[in-house]
Order: sequence, then C-alpha cells, then structure tokens
Amino acid sequence: MRDSRTVRIFITGLVQGIGFRPFIYNLAGRFGIRGYVRNGANAVEVLAGGTGNALDEFIRNIETSPPPLARIDSIRHEEAGEAPGAGFQILQSEDTTDEVTDVSPDIAVCDYCLADMKTQPHRIDYPLINCTLCGPRFSIIRSVPYDRLRTTMAPFAMCETCAGEYTDPADRRFHAQPVACNDCGPKYSLYGPVKTVEGNERVVAETARLIGDGAVVAVKGTGGFHFACNPFSDVALQRLRTGKRRDGKPFALMFRDIETLRNYAEVNDEEEKLLHSTIRPVVLLAAGGTESLLPDVNNRLSTVGAMLPYMPFHHLLFEKTALPAIVMTSGNISEEPIVIDNETARSTFAGIADAVVIYNREIHNRVDDSVCAVFDGSVQILRRSRGFAPSPIPLNVPVDGIAAAGAELKNCFALGKGSKAILSQHIGDLKNSETMDFYREAFERLCTLFRVQPRLIAHDLHPDYLSTAFARETGLPMAGVQHHHAHIAACCAENGISGKVIGVALDGTGYGTDGAVWGGEFLLSDFSGFDRVTHIRYTGMPGGDRAAVEPWRMAASWLFECDGNDLSHYRDEFFPSIPEEHFNLIGAALEKNINTPRTSSAGRLFDAVAALCGLCDEMSFEAEAAMRLEAQCGNPLAETPYKWNSSDKIDLRETIQSIVADRRRGVDIGTISTRFHATIIDVIVTTCRSIRNNSGCGKVVLSGGCFQNRCIFEGTVRMLQENTFTVFTHHQIPCNDGGVALGQLVVAAVSGR
Ligand code: ZN
Ligand code: ZN
Ligand code: FE
Repeated sequence: MRDSRTVRIFITGLVQGIGFRPFIYNLAGRFGIRGYVRNGANAVEVLAGGTGNALDEFIRNIETSPPPLARIDSIRHEEAGEAPGAGFQILQSEDTTDEVTDVSPDIAVCDYCLADMKTQPHRIDYPLINCTLCGPRFSIIRSVPYDRLRTTMAPFAMCETCAGEYTDPADRRFHAQPVACNDCGPKYSLYGPVKTVEGNERVVAETARLIGDGAVVAVKGTGGFHFACNPFSDVALQRLRTGKRRDGKPFALMFRDIETLRNYAEVNDEEEKLLHSTIRPVVLLAAGGTESLLPDVNNRLSTVGAMLPYMPFHHLLFEKTALPAIVMTSGNISEEPIVIDNETARSTFAGIADAVVIYNREIHNRVDDSVCAVFDGSVQILRRSRGFAPSPIPLNVPVDGIAAAGAELKNCFALGKGSKAILSQHIGDLKNSETMDFYREAFERLCTLFRVQPRLIAHDLHPDYLSTAFARETGLPMAGVQHHHAHIAACCAENGISGKVIGVALDGTGYGTDGAVWGGEFLLSDFSGFDRVTHIRYTGMPGGDRAAVEPWRMAASWLFECDGNDLSHYRDEFFPSIPEEHFNLIGAALEKNINTPRTSSAGRLFDAVAALCGLCDEMSFEAEAAMRLEAQCGNPLAETPYKWNSSDKIDLRETIQSIVADRRRGVDIGTISTRFHATIIDVIVTTCRSIRNNSGCGKVVLSGGCFQNRCIFEGTVRMLQENTFTVFTHHQIPCNDGGVALGQLVVAAVSGR
C-alpha cells in the first residue's frame, strides 16, 4: 500500500478496566487500521498500520474521544519495525516491567446495564450485571494487568452468550472482564432464620420481605458487607445498634432515588451530582423536607448520611420494597474492618443479623463506602474508599519508592510511584487488632499490585502509634514527620504548591516536637520543614485519653485555667450528672498536675465548650461533642466573636469566661455556639493576618479534622478571602487523619534521602 506506515503507540493513565481496548479496536475498524492492542503492565500498547492520514486520525481520536471513564496521562508513538499483519486484534496481556497503569476504582452500575437488566433474556434482573462502563474493579483485582484471570471472576467460565458478547467488537461487553449473566455468573444466596434461599430473584424478594418485616439483614456489597434494615422500625434500629456496638454513631441510608431523598434532606446541585456520580459515596446532607426520620437514625444530629443505589442488587431491592430508604451501614462490629468473606459474615453476624445475603464471588480488596460532603460548592472527602481508591493523586514532587505509614486513627497509607501518590483505601482505627491485620495485608497487596518496593518509609513522630510501630517493623530507613506538618504538606501537595505557606492545622490530637499534644497549630511551612509560629495556649487533659471521650473533663480543665480556685461549684452549675467525687478527683488531678498532659488541641476546646453548653458529657462516637455544638450553630459571620487574647500564644480563657457568663445569663445555646464558632474564625483570620505582616506570606492552607465542621470551614474560607489571602483546602483527600499519609510522603521525599 502506498504511503503505508506502522507505528507503535503507548498510552498511559487510567486506561485499563474501562473499555479501552474495545474502544481502540472499534476505532481501528473505523480507520482501516491493521495491527493489535494489548494491555502491558505499564501502558496500553497499540501496533497500528495504515496510511499516514488514517494513522493521524486514529491517534487524534484516541486523544480527543477516549471512553468516558478513561484518563489519558500520556500518549506517544514510534515507528515500528514489525509488520501489522492482517486485520486488528486484541492480544493477550504482556507483563514485562515494574511500571503499572492505574487500576480503576469500582464503578456504580450504569444506566445501560439497568436497561439491559429488563431486556436481555439471559440477564433479566441479574443482580451483578456489569459492562465496560461499570461494575467492580479494584475490589476484585488480584494483580495487573487487568484481565479476568487476575480477578476474582477467574473461577466463573463464561457461557456461550457471554463469551459471544465478550469477543464481539460491536458489543458493549467486548472485553468487559467481569461479564456475567444469570446462567454463568456469580449467584446470590440468602441464609435466613429458618431457611436458605437460592436463586437470584428469590433472594432479592426475600431480602426485601425480611427488611420490611423489621429484620436486620447483612448484605454483601461491592467492597464488603452492609447491615440493612428498615429505618422506620425502632426495633430494627435498636437491634442493629446493640449488635454493632456502635453506640450513638449515625447510620447511613440508601434512598430509593433522588426525588425520594428530597423529602428527607436538602440537596443542592453539587450534592446531587455527587450522589449520582459513578463513585456513589455517602453524602452528608442537611436534614429537612416534608418527611422525617426516626431520631435514632442520625441520633438527633441535623445531618443525614445518604447514598443512592450503586449495585444492580440495590436497584432490584427497591423494586421489591415500598420503603423510601434502607439503612445501609458498614457490616462491621465496633471498630473492626468491614467483613468481606462469606464464612466470616455467617459466623460473626449470627447474633446481629437475622439473615445473611451473599454472592459467591470473592471480594479481594476491601473497600468501605466513601463519605463526602459539599462545603461551599466543593466536594470534601471525609472517608476516601470505594470509588476513589486506588486512583492516584498526581504530585509535583517525585516520590518514587517511598511509603508513608499514615496516622493511627482513620488510617490510610500511601505509596509513591513516580510522581504519583497511591493512597490506600480507608483502613480505620489501628488500635483494633483486626484492623491492624487489614492494614498489613493491604500494605502488602498494594505494594504488589502497583509493584512498589519501598526504600524509605515515612511515619508520624508519635512513638506509640501502631503505624509507627509498623514502619519500624519493615526494617526500612525511616523518616519521621510531625503530624500537623504532614496535614499541611498533604494539602499543599494535592493543590500542587510547594513554597512557604501559612498552615492552619486544627484537629483533635497530634504528637508535638515538645512531647505535648498539639492540635491548634499555626505553622509557616514548606515540604522541607516548619516553624510553629503560634498555637492555642496549653491546657491540661486530665486523665489523658479519657479526656478525649469525656468532654466535661476538658471543660473542667479550661475552668481550672480560668480560675484555679475551687471548681466544685461549677459541677453543680454545669455538670450535675457527673458524680461529685469524680468531679473533685479531676479537680485535684488538675491542681496537682497528675496524669494531665498539656495540649493545644482545638478539638478538645470544642469538646470543652460543648460540655459547658450541656450538649455532651460523654461521647458515644468520635467527634460527637463538636458535632452537637456545630448542630447548634447559626451564621457565625453574623455574630460577634467572644474576646480572646494573643499576648501569650492564643489565649482563649476570656472566651471560656464569657461563655460561662452567657450560660449564667441564660443566653440560648444556639447563640453561644454561633459566637464560639465566630471566635474560632476570628482567631484564625487575626492570627493569619499577623503572620502575614511578619512574614509577607499570603497563602493560607487549612487542614486537620476541625475543618470537617462546615461552619468553621465556610466561615474561615470566606473571611480569609475577604482579607485577600489565597486559601487552599482539601479536595482529593480528607482533611482529617485520613490525609496525613500524603503529607508524610511528600515531606519524606523532599527532606529524606
Ligand atoms: Zn454497565
Ligand atoms: Zn453468561
Ligand atoms: Fe490530625
């Protein structure tokens, strides 16, 4: 053929597991290109022969109209010495280097599949229907490249019909690795109180019936089990709460559809987009609408954790029940990781769930539901897991071969690959031994999957964090990174900034370089180091860790700072439910400084104020006190802040005294909460202005768990911008300790060896 050439094209990015090879195949057909496409571990490789014009158009189309879920990072081509042969083929995967393309996260069922579920004879109501655009990915992948044999679909032989679709380039399921149907795919079973139910359709119907009758049913999801129950049944909620040992933590709800959800919560455009996205996270919404939920669902907080159906099974379930919503909370007990395997579910859940619904495909990588919120029109990720993991975060710094162990609570670790960070799925609280096992396993698996052999491991400075202990165990060279420096560095890294910034890190706890518990920190920092410019003035934490679960202790501590005299009259006034001896004991501990570490924690300050307002003496779930205080907050920008003093660090004793005075005057809690929130915003803005005056730095970076507080976040961003600061916040990773690993990674990369 005249003008005929052959080139080899390499495409990197998110190009596997989302219908990329079929796309190339079809494109080749369109332009008369001969050759082949195959997945390499580092790229999709295309051998393409054709006329110059056709080749140009072919390559241009790869760039301009890739499949909807693909993300092309690079595309390059070179002249090939190989003849293309006749026709165009999809070849078996090559596996040659230790570079890897991205692994797709799990994707919610697509609309095409929902339609196919009602029309394709072999997939009528098939609860695991999927295609190149949707279905499980990360949760089923064992190794790369992404091919059926390397997933937990391997044991399922395709039937003739599915095989036909899989090999037909014109079909939507051409090379869809988890392709399956009612005849050949994984099947559901239900182990009920009296009988075992088999058959996909019967299982769905029985699940719906049991939930409707007030039963608690454990249902296997994409990345782990859920407990499902009727949110309008007091009995069911109570049973679930007792069984899960979840105390007061709100339950997430899956709503039938967005219209139904609007009856229970306010949903703005951004929130709707997020709810409908292929990630399908739990989205925290403001409660509201014509209908109300039982108070036990969200434990009288003003928010609702809502999501929309994301598995075909969920959609089928709503066809069989009239319920507007179903509780869908993580299938775990207390702080353990969510259960993923069928046998464990059946044994562990025996006392909690009336029935266990499984399907016989294995979950390889555990991924809990992700949790998000929309603040000020932008997405905040509070828990980054299903649908996000393991998408990499692109960085401006090379981090290759570095691992970061993360924090201890809400743990997530990170691996550096080139100049990308691969963040693990949400791991959880490492103090739980099962969670620690999951951590070790996930670390191994992610290293294998992404072919990372760490040469350096970054860790928190806290010597007792179990993640630090893990770092020691690896035997690798270690790089310690201060907790709040890591928070700020993480936010800088995801925003692509590397110079000096004013870092405002407000959270519950982090080990400080002076051995105190930090958490109300103003830093001037870059990746290579930080200056602790100022911080919230230290107070005691009587009883150490107990103070983090009993907010009245922090209130007592602040009162002691304000007025070291006899505290006992405060008990009668503000904490009548705390036994007198108990209260006096804490008073004595404060006086004699026994077991009372010093802290600058902003989180503990919120706790103290919540307790002073009578909102929470003892927490039944993490951050409860601060959440209850926030629930009382109006518009902080319309309220006068309380007085505070910056002559010796950030001294909030006057604020506490004013709150006491307001309480005595009978000022309503809403006003006090709003004024307190206004005070924190005032502290941040005033302190940043003073740091700018001295340093000339006008970039402010906000991080730490306290920025999960919408009033603080939105008010602070607004006021800083009005004061002409450039403000950076988290968008791709959590501001809480789930984001710390990314900061450790970049700090270690810059300051490590
Ligand atoms: Zn689909
Ligand atoms: Zn089939
Ligand atoms: Fe933190």
